[in-house]
Amino acid sequence: MAAVSLLVLVGAVVLAVSFRYFYRRELLPWLPPNTSLVSWRLDGLERAPQALFDFWRYGDSGYRRKKIIALTFDDGPYPLYTPLLLDILKHYKVKATFFVVGIHVREFPALARQIVADGHEIANHTNRHRRERDLSQEELREEVLGCEQAILDVTGQRPRCFRPAGGNLSDEGIQTIQNLGYTSCNATVNPGDWWQRDPDKLIEWSFHGRSREGVTLMHSGALGIVRALPGYINSLRAKGFEFVTLSELAHDIGQPLPELPKRTHIAEPSKAGPNPGLGSPIPEADDEYAP
Ligand SMILES: [Zn+2]
Repeated sequence: MAAVSLLVLVGAVVLAVSFRYFYRRELLPWLPPNTSLVSWRLDGLERAPQALFDFWRYGDSGYRRKKIIALTFDDGPYPLYTPLLLDILKHYKVKATFFVVGIHVREFPALARQIVADGHEIANHTNRHRRERDLSQEELREEVLGCEQAILDVTGQRPRCFRPAGGNLSDEGIQTIQNLGYTSCNATVNPGDWWQRDPDKLIEWSFHGRSREGVTLMHSGALGIVRALPGYINSLRAKGFEFVTLSELAHDIGQPLPELPKRTHIAEPSKAGPNPGLGSPIPEADDEYAP
């Protein structure tokens, strides 16, 4: 009787561990448009049994897929932290994606140009880091176009990815940015670098939810991630990950990001003028879908 109970227990543990593995593996590399964090996780839960069954039936067909990760840095460019991040990325030969804020691009144009010159991807994170909940759809549109114009004026680049300030968009907001030709590029890993200052904790938490592909949310103005980044890059490399930009990741998983359409409407440069301090303050704890 004891032997049977032990067998059942071992079986249950094996099943639970494999289910967890396939759940993580089946998570999407970023939140697709119209998906909340909760439904994204439920989606992984729904597909995990099928992945487990496929593994048992056909072998692990995804086994040879590359392990790739896109590091993303939001809210900059900032003096002080952005140059440090760029130095570290250059030293470790890592290409990342910077979701920049339009007024910061105009305030620190040399930093925006350095991001592009170093081979990183530059992406749209609104003109003044205003959240959709505080805006009409027309104002959201102006925020997106204002940032796009700042990036174009300063770097000559046209971004393809948009990430909302604060991380959330309503269905209506998603429609607005899609109408402008953008793909909503959220993150799958949110280590909380804007308040967590312990590099070991940051590295440990960054692995939560890791599957073969991932997009890590970090911030251009956070000291924690500057300290943690070298160790983070090394530990991901040791686990076999390659670092890519968001466009490269999208291409690799067969969902290439479309080019933006030609605009007839040219957004005016922000009338608010540059921010007098060192960029905007670091986001607060309730930002960026904080845990
Ligand atoms: Zn942000």
